[in-house]
Amino acid sequence: MSTPIRTRFAPSPTGFLHLGGARTALFAWAYARRFQGTFVLRIEDTDRERSTQAATQAILDSMAWLGLSYDEGPFYQMQRMARYREVIDDMLARGLAYRCYMPTEALDALREAQMARGEKPRYDGRWRPENAAGKTPPAGVAPVIRFRNPDDGAVAWDDRVKGRIEFANTELDDLVIARPDGTPTYNFCVVVDDIDMQITHVIRGDDHVNNTPRQINIFRALGFEPPVFAHVPTVLGEDGQKLSKRHGAVSVTEYDAAGYLPEAMINFLARLGWAHGNDEVFSPQAFCDWFDLDAISPAPSRFNTDKLRWLNQEHMKRLSPEELGRRLLPFLEKEGLDVAAGPAPGAVAELFRERVATLVEMAQAVRFFYADVTPDAALLAEQIQPANHAALAELFTAFETLPWDRESLNAALKDAAKRHGLKPPQIMMPVRALVAGTLSTPAIDAVLVLLGREKTLERVRRQGSEVRD
Ligand code: GLU
Repeated sequence: MSTPIRTRFAPSPTGFLHLGGARTALFAWAYARRFQGTFVLRIEDTDRERSTQAATQAILDSMAWLGLSYDEGPFYQMQRMARYREVIDDMLARGLAYRCYMPTEALDALREAQMARGEKPRYDGRWRPENAAGKTPPAGVAPVIRFRNPDDGAVAWDDRVKGRIEFANTELDDLVIARPDGTPTYNFCVVVDDIDMQITHVIRGDDHVNNTPRQINIFRALGFEPPVFAHVPTVLGEDGQKLSKRHGAVSVTEYDAAGYLPEAMINFLARLGWAHGNDEVFSPQAFCDWFDLDAISPAPSRFNTDKLRWLNQEHMKRLSPEELGRRLLPFLEKEGLDVAAGPAPGAVAELFRERVATLVEMAQAVRFFYADVTPDAALLAEQIQPANHAALAELFTAFETLPWDRESLNAALKDAAKRHGLKPPQIMMPVRALVAGTLSTPAIDAVLVLLGREKTLERVRRQGSEVRD
């Protein structure tokens, strides 16, 4: 039997969850789901200056919104300090790590001299156990603890996205694993965690490729085979530049507020650097059924707003009207609309989903069902002319008694036009202007059915008073 898959998402809570981070989380989650594995959430909060509770909460909220449920965690690195110290003590005892008393100024001077000679700056190993014998630690210098990196040979791994990657050990310094105050460093904690959490697949951003050989050496020194690594390329902004605040809404939660559906967001993120044949629109479940690391493209992918909007509309079309209405409801409320005073949100959502790309746009477009409209005077003047007065007046009288269904309304609109030698739009457009304050609505008969007889009459009478004279 093969080992059960265990993946993790290990964000540093120093800011919101941006699209690149969300995509990494998505891939790690989907890989665990695909193989009935376990998805672990680990909060890497050891950078005490930059880590905040608010950022942790934003990450948790974003993951909850996207539906990226974790099976274990969240584990917080700050709560695992005793464990890291235990491993460091053990490494010191076994000669895998050592105390280095080189003062910072001396290290800086060494580096400068190396660079002046055109060499790569690196620690010279002077406090390695074999070199330190007989040396007395200088007074007043709190040591760092360094990992004794192998001297020669190479570290290589078959990255599941990038292929084979190899680093010569001569390129790697003896990594500092604990600072002078005893706090463990990032690359070390990651390895201890990945070992303790029995992570089988590390799926993370490719900004970590340079850390990987150092981490692999620590894994091996501790007697563990490293996990499989898959380094996912960066997500670029629309302009091909690294995604940043300049690109506008980059926190995942902003897409929630902007009226995107989480399933559309998952679909969109999934397609950033991953493909399954020609499939463009798919559910989170389908993604989990299909996802594999080998299909991730090693090339950076680009963010594309038009594509996200298109996908969102496609996903809106795939929901039942009731469900779409349920999703729309908070957006109507945010618009300050009295939802109880108008038609069921599901019914209006069904009518409008072909016309808008987001729930925010939908809430704005359907506003007139729930709140009074004051059509622009110029619009009314343009639509209501002597030529259609009589026809409109007749129509509004018919509105008082005809059965309030699409068929009857449609017939009445057409009849009124025909009787007066007008084209249907000459009647339908002014009605749109009167009841909705805009000419751009779905089929007017469907709109009127939802708006109801009472509100329709009220609006055409009040605002179209000149029509009846
Ligand atoms: N905490 C790291 C980050 O936020 C991720 C580390 C990892 O996945 O190994 O970039």
